[in-house]
Amino acid sequence: MSALGLEVISKRFGAFTALDHIDLDVGSGELVALLGPSGCGKTTLLRLIAGLDAPSSGTIRFDGRDMADVAVRKRGVGMVSQHYALFPHMSVADNIAFGLKARKLAREDIKKRVREILQIVQLDSFRDRFPAQLSGGQMQRVAIARTLVTEPRILLMDEPFASLDAALRIDMRRFVRTLQQRYGITTVFVTHDQDEALEIADRVAILLDGKLRQFDTPDVVYHRPADTEVARFLKATNIFAGTVSPEGRLVMPWGELELSRDIAVEPGKRVTAMIRDEALALFPSDHPDQSNLLPVVVSRVDFHGATVSYVVEAGDMQFTVEEHSTRRLEPGAALHLSAPARHLWLFPSERGGASA
Ligand code: ATP
Repeated sequence: MSALGLEVISKRFGAFTALDHIDLDVGSGELVALLGPSGCGKTTLLRLIAGLDAPSSGTIRFDGRDMADVAVRKRGVGMVSQHYALFPHMSVADNIAFGLKARKLAREDIKKRVREILQIVQLDSFRDRFPAQLSGGQMQRVAIARTLVTEPRILLMDEPFASLDAALRIDMRRFVRTLQQRYGITTVFVTHDQDEALEIADRVAILLDGKLRQFDTPDVVYHRPADTEVARFLKATNIFAGTVSPEGRLVMPWGELELSRDIAVEPGKRVTAMIRDEALALFPSDHPDQSNLLPVVVSRVDFHGATVSYVVEAGDMQFTVEEHSTRRLEPGAALHLSAPARHLWLFPSERGGASA
C-alpha cells in the first residue's frame, strides 16, 4: 500500500483544467519530485494533497484511507515553501517550538524535541538568534526544522530553495535528501529545476499542462523519456526522424545508424529518435573500430567551464555534442561523430506497440 495515493485526480477552475486525471503513488519513505514548468499545476496538486483545496474529481488516500473528509489539521501534513515566513520577533528555538506549543505538548517534551532537531539541522549554536540575524540558508533550515519537529506523515516541499543562490541550493538539496533518507520521511518535492529533481528524487513525476506525462526513476525519465516534450523539457537534446530498414537500421536522408538489439521496432516504420548530447563523441577521421560514425564539421563552440558544447554539421543535419573541456576543438575542424547504438532511444509511442 502506498503512503500517498492519487487516483484520477482532476482540478478545474471554471472552464480551465489545471490538473487532468492524475494517478500517482508515493511509497512510504520515498521522495517524489514533481517537476514541470511554471503554470503546469504543481502547486495546485500540493494544495490538494495538503487539503487546502478539494479536487474536482478523484480520490486522495493516505495509507489507503480516503482523505476527502479529513480536515487540513488532521492530515498530518508538513509544508515547507520558498516563503519561509519565520516569526521575526521570536528566536530560532521559539520559532521551532511554536507548532509544538500549539499542540499543547508538555514543556519538557518540547524542550527535548527542539534540542534534538536543532542538532539535526546543525543550528544548535543559533538557537537564541532572531531570523534577521540569519542567512537565507540558515532561515530555510529553521523552516525545515519547524516542520520536521511536528513529525509529519507526509512532507510537502514547494520550491523550497527557489530564493537561494545556486551554490546554496546544491548544499540544501543534499542536506534535505540526507535528512529525508535518514528519517524515512515520505516527501513530495515540487520544483521546476531539472537538475534538482534528478538529483534529489527516488522517482520524478513530470507534469506538463496539467497532465502527468511520465513517472519513473531519474535514470529512466532522463535516458528513456516517454515523448519528445518530456525529453526536451529535461534537457535540450538531439532529436531526429528516420525510417527503420528491414535490417533494423535507422535510415535518415543524411546517413544510417545501427539500432540497439534491445529496441524492437517494426521495419518500415517512421520513428523519432533521440540521443543525448553527452552520449555523442567526436573522433579523428581515421579512428578505427567505431560503428555509427558520421563525417561532420564543427560549426560552433560553447565553453561552459567543466564541459564544452560543439554544434557539428552533417549535411543539413545539426547535432550538439557535449564533452569534458579537457581538449578544445576549433570551428571548421572535420571529424567523425559517433552515435553509439546503445544510447539511441526511440520514443515508445511510435514503435508500433513494441517495448524496449
Ligand atoms: P509555478 O511554478 O509558476 O508556481 P505551478 O506549476 O505551481 O506554477 P499552479 O500554481 O499549480 O502552477 O497553477 C496551475 C494553473 O492553474 C495556472 O494556469 C494557474 O493560473 C491556474 N490556477 C491556479 N490556481 C487558480 C485559481 N484559484 N483560480 C483559477 N486558476 C488557477
